[in-house]
Amino acid sequence: MPSNRCRPGAPHCAILDCGESLRLKGGLLGVEIGLDQVSRQAQHERRGVVVRGVVQGVGFRPFVYRLALEEGLAGFIGNDTGGVTIEVEGPVSRLDTFVTRLRTETPPLARIDAVAVEQLATVGELGFRIVTSEVLGRVSTGIPADAATCADCLRELLDPADRRYGYPFLNCTNCGPRYTITRSIPYDRPQTSMAKFKMCALCQAEYHDPANRRFHAQPNACWQCGPQVSLVGADGGSIEADDPVSECVARLAGGQIMAIKGIGGFHLSVDATSEAAVLRLRERKHRYGKPLAVMVRDLEAAREFCALTNDEETLLQTSARPIVLARKRHGKCIAESLAPGVPWLGVFLPYAPLQHLLFASGELRALVMTSANLSEEPIAIDNDEALARLSGIADAFLMHDRKILQRCDDSVAAIVDGAPQVLRRARGFVPLGVALPIDAPPLLAVGGHMKNVFTLARGRFAYQSQHLGDLENLTGLEFFKESLDHLMRTFEVEPQAVVHDLHPGYISTAWAREWAAARGLPLIGVQHHHAHVAGCMAEHGVGEAIGLALDGTGYGTDGTIWGGEVLIARLDGFERFAHLEQVPLPGGDAAIKEPWRVAYSALRKAGVAKHEAAQLAGANAEQMAVLEQMMERKINSPLTSSLGRLFDAVAAVVLNRRVVDYEAQAAIELEGIAVDESVRLGRSGYVPELGEAGSCADVGHDGSLIIQTTSMWQALLSDMKNGVNAKRIASRFHSGVSEGFIWAVANAREKTGITRVAMSGGCLHNRRLARLLREGLEEESFTVLQHRQVSPGDGGLSYGQTVIAAASLSKS
Ligand SMILES: [Zn+2]
Ligand SMILES: [Zn+2]
Ligand SMILES: [Zn+2]
Repeated sequence: MPSNRCRPGAPHCAILDCGESLRLKGGLLGVEIGLDQVSRQAQHERRGVVVRGVVQGVGFRPFVYRLALEEGLAGFIGNDTGGVTIEVEGPVSRLDTFVTRLRTETPPLARIDAVAVEQLATVGELGFRIVTSEVLGRVSTGIPADAATCADCLRELLDPADRRYGYPFLNCTNCGPRYTITRSIPYDRPQTSMAKFKMCALCQAEYHDPANRRFHAQPNACWQCGPQVSLVGADGGSIEADDPVSECVARLAGGQIMAIKGIGGFHLSVDATSEAAVLRLRERKHRYGKPLAVMVRDLEAAREFCALTNDEETLLQTSARPIVLARKRHGKCIAESLAPGVPWLGVFLPYAPLQHLLFASGELRALVMTSANLSEEPIAIDNDEALARLSGIADAFLMHDRKILQRCDDSVAAIVDGAPQVLRRARGFVPLGVALPIDAPPLLAVGGHMKNVFTLARGRFAYQSQHLGDLENLTGLEFFKESLDHLMRTFEVEPQAVVHDLHPGYISTAWAREWAAARGLPLIGVQHHHAHVAGCMAEHGVGEAIGLALDGTGYGTDGTIWGGEVLIARLDGFERFAHLEQVPLPGGDAAIKEPWRVAYSALRKAGVAKHEAAQLAGANAEQMAVLEQMMERKINSPLTSSLGRLFDAVAAVVLNRRVVDYEAQAAIELEGIAVDESVRLGRSGYVPELGEAGSCADVGHDGSLIIQTTSMWQALLSDMKNGVNAKRIASRFHSGVSEGFIWAVANAREKTGITRVAMSGGCLHNRRLARLLREGLEEESFTVLQHRQVSPGDGGLSYGQTVIAAASLSKS
């Protein structure tokens, strides 16, 4: 076995299989030494440098290799558990420059969280080398997130003189698939679905050359040696075509529905500028109202279809390439049925070479790219699975022979109140860790029921799973288990406790109980809205805040359904300070799908007579009688203080939105129709009541203040009678309801002296509401915290659960 003190003139591949003599001490991590503290007596010195963060599989080792060569330093770099370890030897000034450049010239996909520097005894080493993970005696952990095709690769893709011209799977250390093609750690080619493709001599040479952009690019491939695309008919038979991509483009341009294999799963795709094609897709997919995401050729096309701000343009171009919700332009040659009744369009840019090629001929400008699944099932990833599940929908399939090993939907993000907010965390973000404000023992938090995301935590990081969707169907639960198993292995987290929501009916709760019991692990139940708020606080490193939890539904500590809550929150506990007035939810979950039910209930609560309430809610005489009975006898009519349900009720009355095709549709349409006023409307909004305490709030039975809605409804109904248009009414409702919560928060400050407000919950997807609240609270001199990396909706729940469990455990 060669020694690491070895010899000048390393072989062509800079990786040496060095052995036991390599000194890597556990103590290295322990000390963070400022460079100025390090002795400068000797001219020549040796330093141990440990770098933590996203530094594996992102071109970090070749970057350090080049840096060391440029500074004329000897030593080595290798991946270790959770980062890289470097030892460098040379003149002190060069060593200083090396460490500075390490921090300032980081490659695009890398993220440095910490650098620890230690002084070591010099060994007189010559040359700088990259050593294998095995050399360091530990398994390298961590798998990078998938990254969009970089500018260099894109140039090659479109350059007829390049050997990878038109090759749909080119990539380099700065881009390409990562998480979705990896089976297990360490992130090396044999552990990815590229294992079956043997690199050709040219690719091999690139892979072993530290000066090459493809040095250790695990998915490195070309026409000669890598994956290939093929076209398959709905019957499973192959379709002969000289160029399957061009044939796919022709079919799309001709109005066909194509299933296209992407990075994290199959997409169903049609020409987004063709109304007929979009409607046909909707019909076949049985998805009528829900907005469809649109992949546009380039930024210019995005600008054509949406009124983009500078921040939105930047967000569109990040390497995660999320779907960005942006205000759509009307009448711009894009199918109206893409997002009916919604002011936003979810747009994104191509992120895989295959997708760039679909647009390269210029024939297509915008494609619907929607997850290939039925209703809320997980996205299809396997060729056979796609054929079986989608043959009734797609006219043909553009497939390839590189397996997707981890299902991953597209991420969704938006600029909310001037800064990016991740609304659905999946491809491009997973499995990157989110920082925790306190140390966590190994934990599993299982999240909610719909839009499920679980979180594994260890130390100062929380690792959220990709968006898993609804657990109600069997495939959803299977997806949950698969991903958990994978991420537990990836991050080597063996949970010591399991955290769950209090709702006894959540599948995640039942599963957590069973799983913890089988392993003899303690269970920690966390209230839904406390988790929402704690997650927001933790993102900002805050331990105490007034929490505004504005949400759909979540199980309260009193067994009722909460969702319009003002909490006095700490990470390890909370007090319910105020909430929206409760109304019965006749039919329980059925009322979520049928807003007319909650509209009727809310109107009755506000004192409107039976027949008038029925007429306003759009209920017939029979429905009215049934609801009256249910509410009177308290049959399946849980009480709720949910703001989401209040939005539903108002939308049912104002927009006649009696039933919804997808979650939150009524509220989204109400937001969409509101006239564009950024200023607060003050008293001309439907404020629950302003001013004197007692006139608008009474002390509820549990001691919390109640934000009453009767006066709000009276003002709204009076406007309707006076013929005020729906746009104006929607605007006044948004403004009024936010004033009511601002008022309640101000009361909470009077009692507690806390001046920070953490806003969370699914209703914060409503940007008008988020902005009105933030502006109003800031006018009242509050500091307002909003989610950024973690979703304000139930996708962020498990992160908050993790924080609360960690805080409670550390206290006990
Ligand atoms: Zn690249
Ligand atoms: Zn090759
Ligand atoms: Zn929630």
